[in-house]
Amino acid sequence: MAMRRVAFHGRHLLSSPHLFRRHMSTEPMAALDRIRNSGLLKTQGLVGGKWIDSYDGKKIEVQNPATGDVIASVPCMGTKETTDAISSAYSTYSSWSKLTAAERSKALRNWYDLIIKHKDELALLITLEQGKPIKEALGEVSYGASFIEFFSEEAKRIYGDIIPAPLSDRRLLVLKQPVGVVGAITPWNFPLAMITRKVGPALACGCTVVVKPSEYTPLTALAAADLALQAGIPPGALNIVMGNAPEIGDALLKSTQVRKITFTGSTAVGKKLMEGSASTVKKVSLELGGNAPCIVFDDADIDVAVKGSLAAKFRNSGQTCVCANRILVQEGIYEEFAKAFVKAVQGMQVGNGLVEGTSQGPLINEAAVQKVETFVNDATSKGANVILGGRRHSLGKTFYEPTVVSNVNRDMLLFKDEVFGPVAPLVPFKTEEDAISMANDTNAGLAAYVFTKSIPRSWRVSEALEYGLVGVNEGIISTEVAPFGGVKQSGLGREGSKYGMDEYLEVKYVCMGNLKET
Ligand code: NAP
Repeated sequence: MAMRRVAFHGRHLLSSPHLFRRHMSTEPMAALDRIRNSGLLKTQGLVGGKWIDSYDGKKIEVQNPATGDVIASVPCMGTKETTDAISSAYSTYSSWSKLTAAERSKALRNWYDLIIKHKDELALLITLEQGKPIKEALGEVSYGASFIEFFSEEAKRIYGDIIPAPLSDRRLLVLKQPVGVVGAITPWNFPLAMITRKVGPALACGCTVVVKPSEYTPLTALAAADLALQAGIPPGALNIVMGNAPEIGDALLKSTQVRKITFTGSTAVGKKLMEGSASTVKKVSLELGGNAPCIVFDDADIDVAVKGSLAAKFRNSGQTCVCANRILVQEGIYEEFAKAFVKAVQGMQVGNGLVEGTSQGPLINEAAVQKVETFVNDATSKGANVILGGRRHSLGKTFYEPTVVSNVNRDMLLFKDEVFGPVAPLVPFKTEEDAISMANDTNAGLAAYVFTKSIPRSWRVSEALEYGLVGVNEGIISTEVAPFGGVKQSGLGREGSKYGMDEYLEVKYVCMGNLKET
């Protein structure tokens, strides 16, 4: 096979598969072989049910963040491919939306079954391109699949209403109808679940979709789309384009055929998409950044609080939107909590996610590590103390030590912004009022956590927190059956649960008049 170098985003690609092999260490290579043998290593975009390259032949490389190896190359698509994907979704909409709910439900259920059947290969793919430990990747596959299962069931429950009419010869009906073609843009931190949480309800409602996964993690999206085709979801109902994000985003925004934009990612990009949706007045849902407070009161069960805050902080190397970003600890137990928390963090094993026992993988890229370093330096320069970690890990590349920083305050970046890395800032507080005021002192409003044994306090504080999700004595709270979403600048709309269906439905009122018998 001829070897070809393509430069994109400053990275060079050697496109011979033999070269990928030579560069790769044994475990990733074995994992990739397994995925390839299952037929799930898809490296082209999906438009109208056809696997295609970019029209100009440009490619982007996908790297394993744990090793820096190139795993595969995928097409670098832009305006033209996206326009074709929209046309394909638009023409398929007329048939997919007219199927019965039972038919759509069955196709989604088949998709769920296939995802579960291939859970090991999908998890390996997630670990290879995203870096999270294989155990977490398996957890993501179950979580991601659960949205397809749940929404396959919800497809059959899109009920309307009959409203008692004010005039006797009228009947007032409310129908719920699919919104139309959906543009879905997703991030790299949950390469499967952030897609299924959008595509599941969209397809269940009768919408068709153009998905743009992150350039860092397109392979999981492509594998999942292949399983969707195998499951009987018709060609054109689910299209995948990736590459030049602003071009793809603009094509989706400008199209009058796209009636909805759903996005998960940074607040900055979310704002751009919201602004760009105005010219065609699209429906918009946004799942944006967080700055989660995790409040540990004097009356908390320390073991429960340590376990919960550890899980809420360090999952996915601290790269989730619901990660505990600020651990606020009441003065009475501050020292005791800090000691127990540090001990628990010391037990974490950093390494390649494919290696058994690894509890923390690499960060996604060099920029992510530099952001973490900036935040830690800012805190120490303003008086905080690193009590564990605080440096790049000896493994090199994008590995960073699990870190605990004490005496963080409101003036520090660690308090104000999402660090999106394995750094746990401990912030002391005196009273319940102080804790609530600190917790709400941010433009973000996604997740918050509270640890207390007091039932009245748990109610009081949960109600006072300006957040879309609150975990009480629990650090992992996401589930397909509950609504997920933020307030303030963390987003608009909800995903998952019965509420997640509403985002893909329009409400139509039909007034039937002159019903008097003649
Ligand atoms: P990001 O930079 O905003 O990227 C998210 C997606 O938007 C990617 O597919 C990206 O493409 C694309 N994108 C970037 N610029 C674009 C543009 N101008 N037009 C259209 N699309 C564009 O965010 P990220 O770094 O991947 O993800 C981390 C952020 O997501 C964090 O802030 C995190 O809190 C948030 N997040 C929120 C939730 C939630 O449910 N609230 C869940 C997970 C993550 P490329 O990658 O190809 O450039």
